[in-house]
Amino acid sequence: MPVARVALDGAVDRAFDYEIPPELDAAAVPGARVLVPLGRREEQGTVLSRRDASDFAGVLKPLRAVEPGDPAVSLPLLRLALWMARYYMAPFGLCLRAMLPPRMRSARVGSGDGFARERTISRVDPGDASESGGAGASGASGARPEPTARQAEILGWLGEGESLLSGFCRTWHVAPETIRRMEEAGLVRIGTRICRRDPLAARRIAPSAPLRLNDEQSAALRAIVAALPPDSGSSKPILLHGITGSGKTEVYLQAIAEALARDCGAIVLVPEISLTPQTIRRFVSRFGPVVAVLHSQLGPGERHDEWHRLHSGEARVAVGPRSALFAPVRRLGLIVVDEEHEPSYKQDETPRYNARDVAVVRARAEKCAVVLGSATPSLESWRNASIGKYALVSLKRRATSGCLPSTTIVDMRVEASPGAGGVPGGGSGLIFSDTLVRAIRTRLEYGEQTMLLLNRRGWAPRVACPACGHVETCENCSVRMAYHRDDDVLRCHVCGAWRRVPAVCPECGAPEQRLAGVGTQRVESVARTLFPKARIERMDLDVTTRKSSHEEILSRFRAGKTDILVGTQMIAKGLDFPNVTLAGILDADASLCVPDFRASERTFQLVAQMAGRAGRGERPGDVIVQTRSPDAPAIVLAAREAYAEFAAAELVEREELLYPPFSRFCLVTVRSASRDAAESYAARFADAIGRDRPDWILGEPGPAPIEKSNGVWRFQISLRGPDSDVLHGRLRAAINAIPANGDISVACDIDALGGG
Ligand code: ADP
Ligand code: ZN
Repeated sequence: MPVARVALDGAVDRAFDYEIPPELDAAAVPGARVLVPLGRREEQGTVLSRRDASDFAGVLKPLRAVEPGDPAVSLPLLRLALWMARYYMAPFGLCLRAMLPPRMRSARVGSGDGFARERTISRVDPGDASESGGAGASGASGARPEPTARQAEILGWLGEGESLLSGFCRTWHVAPETIRRMEEAGLVRIGTRICRRDPLAARRIAPSAPLRLNDEQSAALRAIVAALPPDSGSSKPILLHGITGSGKTEVYLQAIAEALARDCGAIVLVPEISLTPQTIRRFVSRFGPVVAVLHSQLGPGERHDEWHRLHSGEARVAVGPRSALFAPVRRLGLIVVDEEHEPSYKQDETPRYNARDVAVVRARAEKCAVVLGSATPSLESWRNASIGKYALVSLKRRATSGCLPSTTIVDMRVEASPGAGGVPGGGSGLIFSDTLVRAIRTRLEYGEQTMLLLNRRGWAPRVACPACGHVETCENCSVRMAYHRDDDVLRCHVCGAWRRVPAVCPECGAPEQRLAGVGTQRVESVARTLFPKARIERMDLDVTTRKSSHEEILSRFRAGKTDILVGTQMIAKGLDFPNVTLAGILDADASLCVPDFRASERTFQLVAQMAGRAGRGERPGDVIVQTRSPDAPAIVLAAREAYAEFAAAELVEREELLYPPFSRFCLVTVRSASRDAAESYAARFADAIGRDRPDWILGEPGPAPIEKSNGVWRFQISLRGPDSDVLHGRLRAAINAIPANGDISVACDIDALGGG
């Protein structure tokens, strides 16, 4: 009897052989979900492969059940999961899990298809009595009782075709009992049909036509089209470097149109935060219902249905964040990773994959085109392009006005000096420079809009005692607590814990606590004082936790009901508002001095992306960057979007220190409820990896940037070197040499984003 090798779901790598009973033979193919016995329990898993016999010596048990229909996981995806398991050192079961929609992860195999059904009603044709069930043999329609006057009236309302039972009864005020009697009499038929839970059901989206591309866009489109199947044989991944507002999205849209014309499907990945109604509208208005939207705010039912629309081939284009990379698109022709530099493509739990990198691997496996697009590409992708591993396509002009905004860098050290004007932030230095205030006033006069970025939420990032210097910190986490004015509490941004501001200093008893530093709430409040007539809104995590509030704020801004939008990095990304002619960055240094070898790169990206929000329409824009490091290259070059120049300088430094992209960078995090246990385990782990070898550089073990989080202590060890196989080998050796015990957990993050 044939045998199936089954990988079990779960966090431990386990695969077992099972006999395939004849009645399950057709469905038990690689990629199919199965139910199997394991000891006395039942487990679920996925068929990896089939073979004629097993090398297992004992007696094989048979499969219990197989999910009917086409296998859930296609062969290329199955191979991709195997690759991920190996590369990211993650259990295979968890890699596969990442590819399945939520319902399929949890529902029992064979327990139904998960679609929602609704009851329908239709008329039974008198000549069609055989189906009516109530009137005996065919041709005996005369035996059917004549409908009463009321029933005839209802039949008249029914008309031809099927109606929804509930809607029909509601519309025509018919009692369900009446319908039941009509069914018994063989007058109507009650059936069921699958009702699609459509995430866009409530939206009306008008169709859009392709724009006329400019020369640069046309050249980019040609390069992508040349890489589509069936021509994609040896084509390379394409890095589309287009400045902000250069019209990358229009290029993606037309490339997808060409893929569809070739009967291929496409996947578009966007960062979660830019999966706004605006983005969705751009894709749906061009392609209509062949677009499936897969984002995390969908209910499980909607996600299930969108997944199945792709799986069945009814939908051909998947748009979504990171996990949409695994969408079951048939005949995949194109993968687009928009804003490919975004850290949100990296999953921060096992498997710790980067969807941008896995996209390249999936494209190779499916022999399809892959486009990585950004105004500020990751240095990894930029280097891959410069050594010829990727093909580089550039858009250097804005699609509408043609030119980038003009920028002013304001040195806040000078502005803050006595007599220099500007608006002080209540004992915490300056919030608004004079330059910025004047620029905003002009915008208000002309009815144009302003966006202000400060990447720090709350009112004040810390509360300190002016007498002894004591700072309020979280009990569970090693971070300062921020003061939030809205609800007048101290809040931990790591674990969410909150408490009241102490009336007196808990250390020295001094009566007054000082609110130090500036957060978005304070910026909003100062702006209201400065510009009393302006309509001001704030967008940050505190106001967007409610579902769709993000959407509402943006749609008011788009409609011109807001003059000034204050926000954290969530306003810096991907938004396209033509009436915004001023972008202000209040504290461009904020991300410069964090302990991360990518600090400069992140600062460059944030400043350049924010600057890119201004002047996207017909009118030119201005950018004002407030900083205390007016000479830092990351800030100066970002202000004028001089990406290539920034990348060249930054790459020199990375190469000297052997940081990515000149090496692979792994971060091991050791967690324990005991600080000592975590620290000593980390030290032993580092010894087991081995120091001072030519092939790798070991970072000294030390506390993580947030040493304690939610009551758990965390120590980290970094490991970098040119060859990922060597690093994998060292990490495995260390894990095997000193098994984690007690409450210690060890997580290896391959190609980690943070740390350094
Ligand atoms: P990016 O994604 O590169 O930042 P977008 O795709 O958002 O840029 O385009 C910026 C703006 O330019 C959008 O409003 C878009 O409709 C417009 N646009 C793009 N291409 C063209 C074109 N060929 N002709 C006219 N307008 C265009
Ligand atoms: Zn906390």
